[in-house]
Amino acid sequence: MYFVAKLGREDSETLIQPQRCTRCSNSSIYNRAYSGEALCGSCFCSSIEEKVKRAISKYGLLKHGDKVGVAVSGGKDSLTLLRILSEMCRHHASKIFAITIDEGISSYREEAIDLCKEFTGELDIPHCVVSFKELYGFSLDNVIKSRRVQGASACSICGILRRRAIDIAARSLGVDVIATAHNLDDMLQTFMINLLNGDMARVKWFDSAIKPKEEFVVRRVRPLMDIYEKEIAMYAFLKNTPFQTVSCPYMNEGIRSEIRSMLNALEEEHPGIKYSTLNSAIRISKSIAIDGRELKLCKMCNFPSSGELCSVCKTIEMVKGNMYI
Ligand code: SF4
Ligand code: ZN
Repeated sequence: MYFVAKLGREDSETLIQPQRCTRCSNSSIYNRAYSGEALCGSCFCSSIEEKVKRAISKYGLLKHGDKVGVAVSGGKDSLTLLRILSEMCRHHASKIFAITIDEGISSYREEAIDLCKEFTGELDIPHCVVSFKELYGFSLDNVIKSRRVQGASACSICGILRRRAIDIAARSLGVDVIATAHNLDDMLQTFMINLLNGDMARVKWFDSAIKPKEEFVVRRVRPLMDIYEKEIAMYAFLKNTPFQTVSCPYMNEGIRSEIRSMLNALEEEHPGIKYSTLNSAIRISKSIAIDGRELKLCKMCNFPSSGELCSVCKTIEMVKGNMYI
């Protein structure tokens, strides 16, 4: 106020002008600290779409004509990924399918499935829903209610079964590649958790973010891996994407939420530090040599496995042996 009062009329008008978009000179709504850009809503959305395209070409994630299965949970990230890929695929002769896994989590997954159905209908994308109940004979609710399973969290059981369910859906749809909506923040948090746990095999897995991993029957790609979570939220908001905002009742983030806060605080003070950490994570994971495990086929399900039984069959055995339903 003091400085404005001291300035002449012309200068004070300059001061109260809203900041202009660096790209088109409309009024900006967002300051991107790590790049120094100020962006209007339309240029911001274009910038996110460009980042996805750049990641796809930089890491060679998709090929012309690929049949792409997009794993959609009903959250902001996966619906944003679906929106952007569906637009891109129209120009690349690629076919796109949405896959939703119904783990059987009452008062939570139903809303997400409805949102996914409505959204895929709007985009005219085929939508496939696969449930734990039909694949494994039990829901996640069943597992939790009757659990006597030692040392396994809901998320670890759910994660193993969900990855397999996506593979089964992808196989039945005949897709070439599965796109998941992990963003830059998710990727860094996972990397840090594995690093802090000293789990070098999993640190090495980070490399699979940009190249195929053998355990998966269908190749996985993460086209949002270069985008900040808060920018995806903003994109979803600007595009009026209806997404689920409540969290899974079984979510137990543990150390992840502390790492999230730490990385956000660092980014606040040092804009762009998440990008440099991502680059370091990729280089570290590439440089780790882990004894190559020979993959065989699981004797129960015939999916690739490092032992006689794959982690999915072991989990199913453990769950069934501990359920009282
Ligand atoms: Fe499954 Fe955990 Fe995700 Fe819930 S939060 S859907 S239990 S992985
Ligand atoms: Zn198996």
